[in-house]
Amino acid sequence: MLDILALLQVSAAFIGIGPFVFHWMRMKKYSNQSIKIPSEPSSWASLTIVLPVWNEEMVIKNKLEDLVKQDYPKDKMEILVIDSDSSDSTMEIFHKWKSESSHDVKVKSIQMPSRLGKSAAINRILVEPLNTDAIVITDADALLADGALRRIGRWLSDPNIGAVCGSQQILGNSEINHIIDEKTYRSFYHDLRIGESAVFSSPIFEGSLAAYRNSLVLGHQIDATYNADDSQLAVLVNRLGSRSIMDSELCFFEYLPTTKEAASIRRLRRANGLVHLFSRNKPSSFSSINRNFSRIMRMESWIHLIMPLLVLISLISMFFHIIFSTFSVIRDVPLQVNHTILLIIDSLILISLLFGNKLRIGQILRSFFISQWALILANFGMFRGVDYRYWEQDIESRKSLIER
Ligand code: GDP
Ligand code: MN
Repeated sequence: MLDILALLQVSAAFIGIGPFVFHWMRMKKYSNQSIKIPSEPSSWASLTIVLPVWNEEMVIKNKLEDLVKQDYPKDKMEILVIDSDSSDSTMEIFHKWKSESSHDVKVKSIQMPSRLGKSAAINRILVEPLNTDAIVITDADALLADGALRRIGRWLSDPNIGAVCGSQQILGNSEINHIIDEKTYRSFYHDLRIGESAVFSSPIFEGSLAAYRNSLVLGHQIDATYNADDSQLAVLVNRLGSRSIMDSELCFFEYLPTTKEAASIRRLRRANGLVHLFSRNKPSSFSSINRNFSRIMRMESWIHLIMPLLVLISLISMFFHIIFSTFSVIRDVPLQVNHTILLIIDSLILISLLFGNKLRIGQILRSFFISQWALILANFGMFRGVDYRYWEQDIESRKSLIER
């Protein structure tokens, strides 16, 4: 019994995590040779900056002001707010700001009759007869770095680029455990996205700031029954034969949720969007479009759908292996050396999980297991049909943003 449990524990871990480590190392290598951004074009792309909002009275004014002060030809940009029936004063603040502020940017709004989720709001935009070159979707609680729109304009001057997203810069206190966890996870995640972009495309996008070419996405619809509107659009762009890349120097600033609970709910919600994305977009359906991209999709599908379940199997076997070994010792049956070694490794993993954030290796293990846990719950949530499309905004992070 002990042998079977040990074998199961080790093989499930290797088969599950092996492809991920392989993919990560490969992408890490590519992330150093990222693609070169085109120089400034003589004619800039025209942009519709889409601002999806639901109950954002705290930050909307700040956000609009942040946008109009971006350095971009004012006749080449317009702002389009899409509100899904906010129950607070978001739209009153918006209309007041629109009538009082002085700038040269065209500002419009669309009012949806009810809240159907962010993906549904994006679908509403995709049927709008826009006569601009691209939409730039940006969240109310994200601030753009200086020159962000110009970087987007430069990328769009390359006809091979169908979509580009920004890189998150985390604002605020970094001493809290769950923020360290998030940052460690983020640095891994960032290397993957940049490496995949260098190879061809990243299927996973940062929706807080992302631009999509209108000639590709307008007239299409995403699946409004789940989140991940950003990654859904990135995958769509690849389905149409174009590229979706993350630019490490296209920055936006955000505060992370301050409480542990808010952070884990958000992690679960985002994981749920991605497991839906990868279970509904089969990697093989991209093999005739682009081999590199179908390979990236295969890896990411493994990472989001299969690895977490194998990690779970490995952890369960580990648990029973520890229990059975303890019984053996109690009954004075000597443990074989391979089981002893496995138990030592298990203890080291458990210790670093508990006290991990003091040590880099512990940080990595902690954030790995936390992300696996979110993916396990998200996969079960998907099978049970749990709906994650409606959520309350994190108030604390928005407070920090306006006090900044
Ligand atoms: P998080 O960053 O993933 O935690 O998500 P946020 O709570 O910051 O929401 C991202 C953006 O989507 C914000 O600008 C929200 O106001 C907006 N949003 C969320 N739900 C809806 C919705 O149902 N409709 C619309 N139009 N916008 C929404
Ligand atoms: Mn947000």
